[in-house]
Amino acid sequence: MKEGRFDLIIIGAGSGGIGAAIAAGRLGLKVLLLEKNSRLGGNAAVSGVSVWEMGAGGTGIPFDIYRRMKKERDAIGIYSFNRHCAWKNENGTSQFPPGADLTIDPTLRYLDSLRRFGARSLKEDELFVRKYWHGVPFEPGIYQNMVKKWLDQMPDVTVRTSETYSDVAYSDSRIEELTLTNGEKVSAPFYIDSTDSAYLVQSCGREMLFGQESRHRFDEPGAPETPSRFVNGVSLIFRIRPTERRRVEELPGGIGKDCWWRDAFPLASMVQYPNGDYNVNMLPTMDGQEYMEWDPKTVYQECKNRSLAYWHYLQTEFPEFQSYKRVGEFLSLGVRETHRIVAEYILTELDVTTGLNGQKHPDIIAIADHPMDVHGGDNPGCRELSSPYGIPFRCLIPEGMENVLVASRAGGFSSIAASSCRLSRTMMQLGQAAGTAAYVALDSGRSFQDLDIPKLQDLLEDQHVQLSWPMPGRIRKHIGKERCDSE
Ligand SMILES: Cc1cc2nc3c(=O)[nH]c(=O)nc-3n(C[C@H](O)[C@H](O)[C@H](O)COP(=O)(O)OP(=O)(O)OC[C@H]3O[C@@H](n4cnc5c(N)ncnc54)[C@H](O)[C@@H]3O)c2cc1C
Repeated sequence: MKEGRFDLIIIGAGSGGIGAAIAAGRLGLKVLLLEKNSRLGGNAAVSGVSVWEMGAGGTGIPFDIYRRMKKERDAIGIYSFNRHCAWKNENGTSQFPPGADLTIDPTLRYLDSLRRFGARSLKEDELFVRKYWHGVPFEPGIYQNMVKKWLDQMPDVTVRTSETYSDVAYSDSRIEELTLTNGEKVSAPFYIDSTDSAYLVQSCGREMLFGQESRHRFDEPGAPETPSRFVNGVSLIFRIRPTERRRVEELPGGIGKDCWWRDAFPLASMVQYPNGDYNVNMLPTMDGQEYMEWDPKTVYQECKNRSLAYWHYLQTEFPEFQSYKRVGEFLSLGVRETHRIVAEYILTELDVTTGLNGQKHPDIIAIADHPMDVHGGDNPGCRELSSPYGIPFRCLIPEGMENVLVASRAGGFSSIAASSCRLSRTMMQLGQAAGTAAYVALDSGRSFQDLDIPKLQDLLEDQHVQLSWPMPGRIRKHIGKERCDSE
């Protein structure tokens, strides 16, 4: 039976795990990255959420990835808002009743994608939104191949797909060793849990957060009086492609034409890929509680049926969609929210609304400005922010565990804060900070709890990670260089 000793073991290769592996690999750590799926990318690729929404803080590794992808044709682009259901035409009718139509704008640059805060709301601020809100859609397959190739080029990084652990040796607050599903034993002084539900931390029996916390738990005015099991809705994303043959595609037998699971079909966010196809994201396909109650196969089939009915509705109600054909749905559901850890510090609504100028944390390792954004349930909505806020390093440290960080949407966030900070680029930046922290810890012989935080922050800024607002001139200059032939 093989045994392997590494500097760092990372579980899960979604946005967080990819950021962690690239950061640690570049710093020369001997890394093992384990991903249970056959492909890398998690939500942002396997589930087709291949759009980095606009927002502060998407510097560092996300920009490095952007520059590498820019070298390939139709791999990555920047969008502008073309039409939106909340905005009116001159004659007073809605610009786009099905939802949002976001199209590639070749005049835009990556720098244009790095701000969201400042709007009262999307509905009230059309001019602001058109000026500042530009996301980054990309081809998931090209992203997966590019990231895999980059990691494979790093001599000390081992990427194992279709692999996970079956057993965790955990004692005295430390993970000592993992047994993989093939029987192999692997160990490292440090671990990063980048799974979507912090499964590694759960395996060690730690307390988890789930659903909405009560107002009193973290002093959050926007939280309900009592806790609830509510979680954000899930979406099965599908792809449509322009076609010259106009027609309404046949709805497979047994699927109803009307919306059977709610009063009316939901809205959708439709984002153009660089090659002209569209990514269609119903908001949402299924409520979070419903998703949690069903078994995975049934839930996927039900979401597929709903998305087929939805496509039929789009084609019959809005004839412009008759010039498109459906080219398939993604292989797994996009899940916004499950479990979160109890961390040394829990990011809360107060952090998100106070913003960088009012927060007093000495250990900020990423910034973000996405609104508090709830999909589905009785109280959906989006509360925009007036400034970016910071995420402290302590949000990644599970309480009572010494050699593990959580760099994923399962980090130490309240439900409200998670609804803001969960974006893919933010998760990648948490990964970048965690991978870099493992390097600092190894180098200094210190634990995560006792880490030299100024050193971590200096290293992140050297890697062009933005930790303050406005963007420092040195980072702005770096991000201004869209192409770099040496990469
Ligand atoms: C429908 C939808 C739309 C969204 N829209 C946007 C958007 O427009 N822009 C944006 O920026 N964000 C968006 N988000 C949010 C964003 O996509 C996610 O929050 C983010 O990608 C999560 O990244 P992650 O690394 O935390 O987790 P994930 O991407 O879920 O990665 C976790 C990884 O861990 C792996 N894993 C799990 N368990 C194990 C195990 N035991 N062993 C090994 N591997 C394991 C999984 O297979 C997966 O690859 C959206 C989310 C959804 C669901």
